[in-house]
Amino acid sequence: MTAPVPYRVVDRRVETADTVTLELVGEDGPAFAPGQFAMLTAYGIGEVPISLSGGGRGGRLIHTLRNVGAVTAALHGAAPGQMIGVRGPFGTTWDVDAARGHDVVIVAGGIGLAPLRPVVEAVLARRDEFGRVSVLVGARTPGDLLYPADLRRWRQRADVRTIVDRPADGWTGEVGLVTTLIPRAEADPDNTVAYLCGPEVMMRFVAEALIRRGLAGHDIHVSLERDMRCGAGWCGHCQLGPLLLCRDGPVFRYDRVEPLLRVREL
Ligand SMILES: Cc1cc2nc3c(=O)[nH]c(=O)nc-3n(C[C@H](O)[C@H](O)[C@H](O)COP(=O)(O)OP(=O)(O)OC[C@H]3O[C@@H](n4cnc5c(N)ncnc54)[C@H](O)[C@@H]3O)c2cc1C
Repeated sequence: MTAPVPYRVVDRRVETADTVTLELVGEDGPAFAPGQFAMLTAYGIGEVPISLSGGGRGGRLIHTLRNVGAVTAALHGAAPGQMIGVRGPFGTTWDVDAARGHDVVIVAGGIGLAPLRPVVEAVLARRDEFGRVSVLVGARTPGDLLYPADLRRWRQRADVRTIVDRPADGWTGEVGLVTTLIPRAEADPDNTVAYLCGPEVMMRFVAEALIRRGLAGHDIHVSLERDMRCGAGWCGHCQLGPLLLCRDGPVFRYDRVEPLLRVREL
């Protein structure tokens, strides 16, 4: 296993009460592709997997991370100038080319928009190659919605809808679960590719709603999470049945993992 390479934090943007986006700059190494993740080290504390949410080339990485425990708290608090260790890239990528010539439905829950942001950017950068594009985003509260400036920009070239579990003063948008937006997504079920990321239960309900609309399981791509330690397929912590999520995932076609996700505690 390789040692973490030191990267410098060059920008820290506060996204929500518990989430920041860090821009890291280091040696020009192997490129990271959308869907892949880095193992980020907070020196002296530990290492966690965090997906790419932007950059990926020329030694520039962008990661959005939510403060949930010891390591993410330390990374969340990293100020510009501070060094962070990076291993990677690891894992499978979002197959954006699978959607060429088709309608695209991108569904994110909470921090799940972070790994999907490069997918939205890739699709909108080559807008003419795709049919209708829907971006459906769910968050706990309006204050938890990530990337408001990006959402406004995306709205010019895609159908972007947001929904929150709990409204706050001034919120005039939709309230409910992101699944309620699925029947309204502008997409031809026979000609649509979907990309989902968020809490596992959300992805299962969204995938089921898409399948009810007529999408095939192999046209739905999901990114899964499990406790991950080595990132390189050695330690077995991220096992899901016959799969190791760090090596075989984290991005899978839904038809491959759906039978495994149905087994409780697997
Ligand atoms: C492939 C992959 C990509 C990820 N990308 C991102 C990302 O872009 N941004 C981001 O904020 N987080 C991401 N995560 C989740 C992140 O790795 C965990 O939040 C982190 O490992 C928690 O470590 P900790 O030491 O801060 O907290 P811990 O003390 O280890 O855990 C705190 C709480 O978070 C839960 N938890 C820990 N790890 C996970 C996990 N992998 N999935 C779900 N719950 C977990 C624990 O059960 C506990 O309740 C990703 C995880 C994986 C596997």
